[in-house]
Order: sequence, then C-alpha cells, then structure tokens
Amino acid sequence: MREYAVLAPLSENRPAKVKDRGIIELVKAGLAAYNAKSDELLLLPEGDRLRRELVSRLKSAMLRGAGVQNVDCGNDAAVFSLAERYVREWGDSATSFSDERGRDLFVLGWSPGKDEAVSRIDAVKRSVLTELPEESGFSFVEEILPEGGTASVLLSLSEAGALGSRPGFVCPGCGRLFLPDSPLGYDVEQPGGAEPEEPLEDIETPGANTIAELCAQLGISVERTLKAMLYIAFDESGRGHPVASFVRGDFNVSMNKLSAWLARDRGLTGLRTANKAELHEMIGEVAGYCGPVRLPDSVVLVCDTSVRGSKNTVVGANRSGYHIKGCCHGRDFDPPIADISQPAQGSPCSCGTRLESAVLRESGRLTLEDGKQIAGKALSYRDRDGVHEYPVEYRGVFSSESIILASHAFREDGR
Ligand SMILES: [Zn+2]
Repeated sequence: MREYAVLAPLSENRPAKVKDRGIIELVKAGLAAYNAKSDELLLLPEGDRLRRELVSRLKSAMLRGAGVQNVDCGNDAAVFSLAERYVREWGDSATSFSDERGRDLFVLGWSPGKDEAVSRIDAVKRSVLTELPEESGFSFVEEILPEGGTASVLLSLSEAGALGSRPGFVCPGCGRLFLPDSPLGYDVEQPGGAEPEEPLEDIETPGANTIAELCAQLGISVERTLKAMLYIAFDESGRGHPVASFVRGDFNVSMNKLSAWLARDRGLTGLRTANKAELHEMIGEVAGYCGPVRLPDSVVLVCDTSVRGSKNTVVGANRSGYHIKGCCHGRDFDPPIADISQPAQGSPCSCGTRLESAVLRESGRLTLEDGKQIAGKALSYRDRDGVHEYPVEYRGVFSSESIILASHAFREDGR
C-alpha cells in the first residue's frame, strides 16, 4: 500500500506582489499559499493545524479566565436561544458564549449592568492575551464609537499593505498603541505657566482665517491659539443645532469622539460638518474667526481637555477679520470640557514621549454599546424572586487568520 505524507512545500521565494510580511513568512514556512487573484490566504495542512490549535486554546482560555462557554452554533439567534436555556439553569455563570464561524471566533455575552460587562470584557481580554506570543506585541487599544460605546481593539504593529491594517500611532517611549479615536484623557502642559493674566483685547487680523496665518501675523506659537471646528447635530425632533468645538491649535477634533459626547451628554446625533450657509444663518459671519468667548447661547459649546488651563491665548472674536488676545480659560469662558481630540503624530503620550504614526493590524475587537443603544434583546429568566434580566449586551470577534499572520509577521528578523 502506498503511504501518503502531509504536503508542506517550503519555499525560498516570496510570493509576488504580497506586502504582508505575515503572509510572506507563512508561505516561506510551507504553512500557506496565497491566491493574489482572489486575495485569499490558503492555509496548507500544517498552517491550518496551527490555526485550529490557536482557536482551541483561545476557547479554553476564555472559559477558564472569563467563564465564556463555547457553543459553536453558527449565528447570533442560535446563540441567544441557547443562552436563554443556559441562564435559566445556571444564572450568572452562563451568560457569555464563544461561537466559531469560519476562521473567526465570535464572543457574545449579556450582563446585568455596564460595570459587570466591562469587568467581563476585561477578563476576556486578559485570557486572550495569555494565549498570544508576547514577542508579537499584541495589545488591546480602546476606541470610542460614534454612538457612544467603546471597542477594545486587538492590535499589533504592522506595515502598509498588510491584511487588516489601519492607520494609528505608537509611543516610542512606552510602546503603547493608539487609534485615531482612542481616548486620551490627560491634561497637556500649557504655555504661559506663571505669567499674569492679560486683559482681553480685540485685535484686527485681516485674512488670518487659518491657524498658520494667525501665528504668522502675530508671531505666536500654535500652542497659544485655539482651533474651532463647527458642526451641526440633530435632536430627537430632527432640529439642527450648531456645535462649536475647540481644541488647542496643535490638536485636531475627532468627530467620532465628539459625536459620542454629543449623544451621551446632549442627546444629539447625526453630527456632520456645517456648511457656510448654515453657519451664517445660525451664528453669523464667523468662518475662520469663531471663538469660545461671546458665542450665542444657541450654540452647543464644548472644549477638548487640551484647552483646560490655557492662558493668554488668541481666539476668534466671532466677527470677520478680528481675534481676541489675552483669553484665559475659566476667566473668559467656562465651557464643558471633554476628551474630543484625535491623537496625532507628535501628540504627547501619558509617559511624556511624543507619538509617531504607525500602521496597525486589527486582529479582533470586543464592543460594548452605551446602555441605551442596545441592539440585541435582553437575556432574562424567571426564578423564585421574579424575573432577572441581563440587558447589557457585549460582543466581539477574533480573526484566527489575522492572529496567525501577526504572530508570523516579525518572526524572521526577531523584531
Ligand atoms: Zn508612552
């Protein structure tokens, strides 16, 4: 009888036109082939064995570390139906589940409250990280969702053209990764520290409708300015409200973070950039000259944490061709402060080092919607005391393919 062996063609040549180092290393190691036409990673027997092993380790780790039961029934409705039976019998110990679908491992769970959901998600994150190779530098990074929820995104450093790659930032000091909508939540050091507060003074600044031109005209540094971003957002009845958001001149607004704040704190949704005509009608002729002082009450005002403690800055005077100098936060305007800015190249990390742009590979995510925006059904069961409900739903998905690629991407040169 003829004996067969598992095919594992080692290859000296890198696959043509492939930029993903993970794919290149998998192909060279005989674990996968790549079909450029269909943009498909074809796992060879040994590669698929590695992938299946990984999924099975993730399932056990999530069960041990976070009580996530594996059900593998293939769709949300089936998981929910099983969950209803489980929760009746076992209560709290059976409210979260993993479900393998193709090369993805889904996580679906319910909690009586947001805090419990957060701690369950943290347990899942810890369990997953124990099964991933440390040298690949996987970490979970928070991302604010525009509707007000949060996603914990599983990321690793990657390079342009890699599967699942997206732009982000890395701190060369502490290695922390950031996405453009990651929470920052720190105070920046303001220029002007101990100098006395100047009086407000209107100054003529013709043509200075950009931060760069303003700095050039007045000979000031960008940290001495505030940048205005004007939007429109809508209340429940569909009425539009002007939104004026301010960041320090060297920062940028994250629309998703601003949108999340407006939904949560003001009940406004559908955020978009306001056009010139809308602005004119709602605030007046302020384009390029909008500032936080003397804004009409009808404008929803919010300032980023980078504005807190600013002193003797130059801000728009809310009339064309004019700015105000000597503006001090607290004395001249006292707006709601929220974390609405985008990390960017050069933004300070909490460790003090400045961030650098990086390409990051997303290999999974766990999402918790804000309480009121629950899309799914509440899981409930009846015991002797009445009906117990688990109204907060969290969900997630991990791509075993992406994790395998990320784990192999930096193997060869030990980076
Ligand atoms: Zn850092």
